[in-house]
Amino acid sequence: MIIVLKRDRKEVLEDVRSRLMAGGFQYNVLEGVKYTVIPVLGDLTASDISRFRSIDGVDKVLRISSPYYMVTKEYRPRTIVDLGDGVRIGDDFRFIAGPCSVESEESFDRIAAFLSSLGIKLLRGGTYKMRSSPYSFQGLGDEGLRILSSVARRYGMKSVSEIVDLRSLDLFLEHVDIIQVGARNMYNFTLLRELGKSGKPLLIKRAPSARIEDFLLSVEYVLLEGNENVILCERGSISFDDASRNAVNMAAIPMLKDLSHLPVLLDPSHGVGVARYIPAVSEAAVLLGADGLMVEIHFDPSNALSDGFQSLNFSQFSRMLEKIRKIQNCLNSTCC
Ligand code: PEP
Ligand code: MN
Repeated sequence: MIIVLKRDRKEVLEDVRSRLMAGGFQYNVLEGVKYTVIPVLGDLTASDISRFRSIDGVDKVLRISSPYYMVTKEYRPRTIVDLGDGVRIGDDFRFIAGPCSVESEESFDRIAAFLSSLGIKLLRGGTYKMRSSPYSFQGLGDEGLRILSSVARRYGMKSVSEIVDLRSLDLFLEHVDIIQVGARNMYNFTLLRELGKSGKPLLIKRAPSARIEDFLLSVEYVLLEGNENVILCERGSISFDDASRNAVNMAAIPMLKDLSHLPVLLDPSHGVGVARYIPAVSEAAVLLGADGLMVEIHFDPSNALSDGFQSLNFSQFSRMLEKIRKIQNCLNSTCC
């Protein structure tokens, strides 16, 4: 932290000094022409910083270190989330795919069978839906979770579904391999803490208006409770432009990979919101170093109960997968 005061405020300098000494901080005082600059070393919390900032006569307080620690590479260089049966996230590129919502056992089975035939190992399906309108399809709830887990087991796949509150935690722990925290719940610290205690693999999405720092601070809550099985998911931020559902900040992929040791996925479906642009954005994510993609698919998008407009149909998904596999081969071989 660096504290800056006006040079002529001697009494403020004395106040700051005595508080720093009382707090046991190491500091130095550099007198410039107009300002006095005080670099401070030590373990400073956000409340220390705000206390110094609120001293009358302190011009500014600059924080140097990041406000989170356990998500950073200083804490550990790399995390691979191991789901068992050879399915890991954070080493090979992985797809999590499936419909926006589990609609029925029959339709979900049809989608799982298709994905499994392509070698996809992670199956998503919303069961408790966070819809903007209370009149929209809200998901099948507990019955959806039961369908998700039995269909996933049938095809030897791992299941992913979004939890909306703690009332269904026990059911999620029983039925789901990765619990998703949706964008709207990224700030639900009570939920995050409980999921942190559970130790269950989590996929946490960035909220539509959260900064990268806010996102990583939310994830820090989970790690602090002892759960390091966390996957980060970028899904686009709110934007003035309604040509796409959200604005996907592609730079967030290398940034999150750099700032954190956790695997980073992109969800182009909720980010872009228009099926025909999703393959191109997904291909870019591979080149930017993402650890995988979360993509919505449906055999009949125009009749899907939620998010049909952004869901890829089977042939769009197959073509995209083929292209991404070619890109990966190219990245792994010597290109001229
Ligand atoms: C979802 O993945 O089903 C979903 C609702 O996404 P988000 O939380 O990113 O809106
Ligand atoms: Mn959706």
